[in-house]
Amino acid sequence: MRNSLLRIHTAQDIDDQVDKVLRGLGNAPPPLSLEYVRALLKLDKGYYSSTKDGPLRELASKLFVAGKQILGRPTLLWEAVKKAELKALYLPDRKQILLDEDLPLLKHRWNESHEIGHSIIPWHTSAMLGDNTATLSQACLEHTESEANYAAGRLLFLRERFTEELNSSTPTLKLIKNLGKSFGNTSTSTMWRSIECSTQTIFGAVSSHPRKLSEKFNAQEPLSYFIRSKSFIEKFSEITEHLIWGHMQSYCGWQKGGPLGETEVVLTDDNGSNHVFRMETFFNSYEALTLGVYVRPELITSVNLFSSSIAATEALFRDLL
Ligand SMILES: [Zn+2]
Repeated sequence: MRNSLLRIHTAQDIDDQVDKVLRGLGNAPPPLSLEYVRALLKLDKGYYSSTKDGPLRELASKLFVAGKQILGRPTLLWEAVKKAELKALYLPDRKQILLDEDLPLLKHRWNESHEIGHSIIPWHTSAMLGDNTATLSQACLEHTESEANYAAGRLLFLRERFTEELNSSTPTLKLIKNLGKSFGNTSTSTMWRSIECSTQTIFGAVSSHPRKLSEKFNAQEPLSYFIRSKSFIEKFSEITEHLIWGHMQSYCGWQKGGPLGETEVVLTDDNGSNHVFRMETFFNSYEALTLGVYVRPELITSVNLFSSSIAATEALFRDLL
């Protein structure tokens, strides 16, 4: 799955809304407190369980009373949650965010921000039903979901504050991890945000361990996410997930966790020229994060130079003779 970038005007409109929130909180330093954000926006937070039927049925019947925009029949919510793997909801008329309590705590922060994103984007209010795994995993193709993800990223990373810190040095997985800590976000969402707002030619991948494939591994789609910066999309549009995966398998080791390896690889741009990228991979015990950063154009090797100069000399002699 690949990331999609928003149109400039849409991004600007969302930025204006995010800006209002951050100013409302007095532009406090990171990490952003979602509790304060909800207090400012007068949003309520609740939980439901996707594994226990009872509480969800109860919630569904409450929604039947209160939430006319959601459903005609209470059982439909329960069915929707089961079928669509709903992970979070925003109920505009109750100004309430509901999170699936069965998800790991680390994911709640992103899911909650995503729903806050829906609540501050004026044109989303009419389009709310709920969110499933695909949309919340940041790579959804539907506009509203990409927009809510964009808003979530801009909120959690405090707009330009993150971009400035990021662009002041060469991105590495270590830097991303440290930035993630100071902004209170996971390494995965930090890597995602780093690539999308980078002015450099970089890419990232979220995948299974390249040596110890997980049960969910799909050879047709070896990377769960292939995230590319604007500049990378413009110059290296032909680079595929399979090519990146092949490189990862060549340099990654069998370690159970931590850094799996790093190397320099050559990628060919859309004009057919070769360029060197530095790739590194880290495994956090459930997913592998890979970062690729542009280093330099590939120089023609001395052997090539030598043989081409021989050819040129021969040609010169042929002309003279
Ligand atoms: Zn959503």
